[in-house]
Amino acid sequence: MTTSTPFTIKLSTNPTSQENRETILATPGFGKYFSDHMVSIDWSIERGWFDAEVRPYGPLSIDPASSVLHYGQEIFEGLKAYRHADGSVWTFRPELNAARMMRSAHRLALPELPLDLFIESLKQLVSVDKAWVPSAPETSMYIRPFMIANETFLGVRAAERAAYYVIAGPAGAYFAKGVAPVSIWLATDFARAASGGTGAAKCGGNYAGSLLPQKEAYANGCSQVLFLDASEMKYLEELGGMNVFIVLKNGTVVTPSLTGSILEGVTRESIMQLARDRGHKVEERKISFDELRDGFSNGDVAEVFACGTAAVMTPIVAIKGPGFVIGDESAPAGELTMSLRQELTDIQYGHIPDRHGWLT
Ligand code: PMP
Repeated sequence: MTTSTPFTIKLSTNPTSQENRETILATPGFGKYFSDHMVSIDWSIERGWFDAEVRPYGPLSIDPASSVLHYGQEIFEGLKAYRHADGSVWTFRPELNAARMMRSAHRLALPELPLDLFIESLKQLVSVDKAWVPSAPETSMYIRPFMIANETFLGVRAAERAAYYVIAGPAGAYFAKGVAPVSIWLATDFARAASGGTGAAKCGGNYAGSLLPQKEAYANGCSQVLFLDASEMKYLEELGGMNVFIVLKNGTVVTPSLTGSILEGVTRESIMQLARDRGHKVEERKISFDELRDGFSNGDVAEVFACGTAAVMTPIVAIKGPGFVIGDESAPAGELTMSLRQELTDIQYGHIPDRHGWLT
């Protein structure tokens, strides 16, 4: 199936009233409210992709023996649509999400949704539900494509039936009161992903496994968990839902290399490009926790930040773990962190020219 196969559009007969929608758009939060429609496309081993639809948002009917409910054969993506001053709506580098979803599908033995069908599915949903894209600063519409194995079969093998969906909903400014530096929690007893595992795929199981250490982080006043490599517990990998960078005092920007257990973030890729454009040396290499700890105390590490679609870039000023605190929880955000963040959001919101052609 290609995009020349049209989507069937079934409009909701009971959409949210304009008044209610405007109330929601005023304080959307994140992941709580959804637009009036969703996309669904079915797949079977015999037919490939079929029945592409935009239809009213609503519950799925799923057989209790569906493979996704037992073996977690599921993948997802996350990206945003931004409203520009002229009212137009743009997504940011969606082809990278499409490609990542194909890699995730490959790893989870799910069918690979072609890139053009992925992009078309976003366009279809965003155009039907365009009124749900908020316009206040730093707000957006969060788009969540996902795919589940839905064959009715309890045997442990790749399912022969699957379904792809896209849902979307308004997202408020992540930092309503201005970008706030955070402390993060070092997981010393848990790893997120192992070599040869599914860490580079965006699959639900990776996140299920991160929730217990995340609870530990919350209990210690931290918003996210920093995971180390599973084999030596020595090198930085990433946070539960964001990639991590350090900036050295000579201006070199460093992020952990892609080992197969790290998710290849769209924001990570974009920040490396923007830093290179400014003449910074950018390195993808192993960063040991010792380098980070020593760098924090002797000043070799000038800034640390996390990045991802949700918060764009979050300054990290302290790292806590069982019985220790590194850094200064009351320190201000790093300068390069804040200026790269400004540049990236300026591109996303159309305030400056999109010189790399990143907007669709
Ligand atoms: N790592 C993990 C584990 C994530 O869940 C995310 C969010 N998708 C990221 C990194 C950042 O990826 P992106 O910049 O594409 O949002």
